[in-house]
Amino acid sequence: MHKNYDFKQAEKEMQNLWKENAIYSFDSNSSNEIYSIDTPPPTVSGSLHIGHIFSYTQAEMIARFKRMQGYNVFYPFGFDDNGLPTERLVEKDEGIIAKNLPRSEFIKKCITTTEKHEKEFKDLWQSLGFSVDWSLQYETINPMVQRISQKSFIKLYEAGKAYMKESPVLWCTECQTSIAQAELETSDKDTTFNHIRFMVGEEGLTIATTRPELLYGCVCLFVNPDDERYKTYIGRNAYVPLYNYSIPILADKKVSLEKGSGVVMCATFGDSTDVEWYETNDLPYRKVILPDGTIDESVPFIGGLKVLAARKQIIKLLAENNLLIESKNITHAVAVHERCGREIEILPSKQWYIDILSNKEMFLKAADKINWYPAQMKNRYTLWVENLKWDWCISRQRYFGVPIPIWYCKQCGKVIPAREEMLPINPVETVPNNPCSCGCNEFIPESSVFDTWATSSVTPQINTKWGEESDISSKFLPMSMRTQAHEIIRTWAFYTIVKSLYHTGEIPWKDIMICGFVLAKKGEKISKSKSNSELSPSVLIENHSADVIRYWAANSRLGTDTIFSIEELSIAKRFITKLWNASKFALSHLHDIDLDADIDLMPVDKWIIERCKQTTFEATRLLNQYEIGSARHEIDEFFWKDLCDYYLEIVKERLYQPEVHGYKERQSAQYALYFCMLSTLKLYAIYVPHITEFIYQEFFIQNESSISIHKLYWNTEIPINEDIIQFGEKLKTIIAETRKYKSEHSLSMKAEIEDVTVMTDGKLADMFKQTIKDIMACCRAKEIKIIQ
Ligand SMILES: [Zn+2]
Ligand SMILES: [Zn+2]
Repeated sequence: MHKNYDFKQAEKEMQNLWKENAIYSFDSNSSNEIYSIDTPPPTVSGSLHIGHIFSYTQAEMIARFKRMQGYNVFYPFGFDDNGLPTERLVEKDEGIIAKNLPRSEFIKKCITTTEKHEKEFKDLWQSLGFSVDWSLQYETINPMVQRISQKSFIKLYEAGKAYMKESPVLWCTECQTSIAQAELETSDKDTTFNHIRFMVGEEGLTIATTRPELLYGCVCLFVNPDDERYKTYIGRNAYVPLYNYSIPILADKKVSLEKGSGVVMCATFGDSTDVEWYETNDLPYRKVILPDGTIDESVPFIGGLKVLAARKQIIKLLAENNLLIESKNITHAVAVHERCGREIEILPSKQWYIDILSNKEMFLKAADKINWYPAQMKNRYTLWVENLKWDWCISRQRYFGVPIPIWYCKQCGKVIPAREEMLPINPVETVPNNPCSCGCNEFIPESSVFDTWATSSVTPQINTKWGEESDISSKFLPMSMRTQAHEIIRTWAFYTIVKSLYHTGEIPWKDIMICGFVLAKKGEKISKSKSNSELSPSVLIENHSADVIRYWAANSRLGTDTIFSIEELSIAKRFITKLWNASKFALSHLHDIDLDADIDLMPVDKWIIERCKQTTFEATRLLNQYEIGSARHEIDEFFWKDLCDYYLEIVKERLYQPEVHGYKERQSAQYALYFCMLSTLKLYAIYVPHITEFIYQEFFIQNESSISIHKLYWNTEIPINEDIIQFGEKLKTIIAETRKYKSEHSLSMKAEIEDVTVMTDGKLADMFKQTIKDIMACCRAKEIKIIQ
């Protein structure tokens, strides 16, 4: 056996061994039950950080666990490499701005940049020993995925679930694209709350607003019908200050009686309530803000200005004209775009949507059919669905994405979707096969692309090659498990459920495993866009080993956040050393083991085997609940305490000195040691796959039928012998008491003592009698007295 464990060499060697023998390949010929995993394709938008390692590693351990339970594990991996996040990365990397380049040139740059990053990502996962079947890799921009994504859209269009509409949409003036409700974040901003005087006849009516620059967009005022102060105003007209045009005063119970002045202005568009009023009251649209965030030239006083400058200007004018009653500084929460932090506007625009609002009940019911781990994560989903206000806007006015496979007839405007056999297509570069039903043969292509979620929401279909020649979806769907972070429940989990229900009427997966975050410091999330992760994962692996990082990643309860620091790794390092030393000791006594010998197990040996089975049983139970951390703690408890602290100390002399303790007795210890050491390695194999494989290859392989420890199954016998466990616990107490006695009397642990008295009931007495020699050796006692 190697003297030392050199992780730098060993980890590479083990990874090569797995690769050469295709240890983790999905076996399509196997009759074993399939366990399929829907893994999040990481967004190619920067470098991976320790937070990714944390969550992806936890899911990877589940793949290993299921494999060792005898499942035929289907574990693909993908990259989400198009859309706004990727475009922003390319713009940053290359120092360019997409809109200043020809579209095709920009896309070329996107492809080279994403390829480079994807290679880095893959190298990192491989250096962590991920048991992914890389032959199942996909990228969300590759032709097959584009085809599946476009097909999903066309099917939804044909079913009336996808529709195009000109209506107010959430708009980012920085990225200059529509966005979905799920891409909003709230952020606290300083602004002013302005009390402004409108005129109704000769009387002044005060309204309060944070957006006075929208005055020119004001289309009516609203009061609460129950508000005694304003009842008489309902149905009259008011004049907009500065602009002096007339608008109606309407009633709506939504207007708060307490907030502001009790009168609110409805402008196109300040917020989602304005949109609702605009739609339900059939109000006119008055254009103020343009897609690039400037004020339309036609707006008096502020045309051409940016929003903030326009706001300042209007407040100044109102004050000069005695129309500003009060302007108070406040901090309030506003909706911003999560990618760039810019405050969101609402602009009318022609966009494609997927209808989600009319099926909320169905989406809520689907959540009940899915097993959520941890269970409380379901609430986040439910809350999100219950509070949805917008249909899912899937079109984006960007460049690098899956094109929307649609044309519009130039003559009659009819929507003409691409035929399935043409997919994937880019409507900008091709034309429909047939003329429009009106006879026209000229078409306007849709130039928008899909939002990335529109594609990543079909990962179960992508994984199972839905509608492709090698379609395996009928056998695989619903998939066994989806793993993901909690922050994307409202996007990825939700949209995947939507698409799956619309396409198959079924849930996309049976289980969903939700991982936590790694925090940099209290309350802060380590994010690639915030670059506060000083230590890159590849440097961490190089300096501390993949196994150490992995062991650390399995420290907490599922779904909980954790904090990372280098000091956190010391526990993992101590563990690796302990595992190596314990194995080295065990192996030095196992070289002459005869596995076919007829063995009469001694009580201590029976006990450690039973404890080992008990540990396996409990770890299996926890891992079936995706509790990687709790399972590891269970195994640690067995390994450090029962196996190392007690058992190895008890049988040491029996192993070294068969001439004193007997040859049969030594064989019994060898048998137990072999069983427990191999079982322990198998349990830890899911956490630290490299060192466990290395030790397996050093010795166990010669007696086992498998070329890799990762192809072995866990021993899932149910532990039943309660008496032997009780005996072991009592034996541990006796040894602990003796150790305590010695240290309290300043004696060395090797010091000899006169006697040890064991008080026991009849049930265990026999076992203790058979263990006298072991106790004598371990406690260095001249005599063992057993009193019943
Ligand atoms: Zn933006
Ligand atoms: Zn037509």
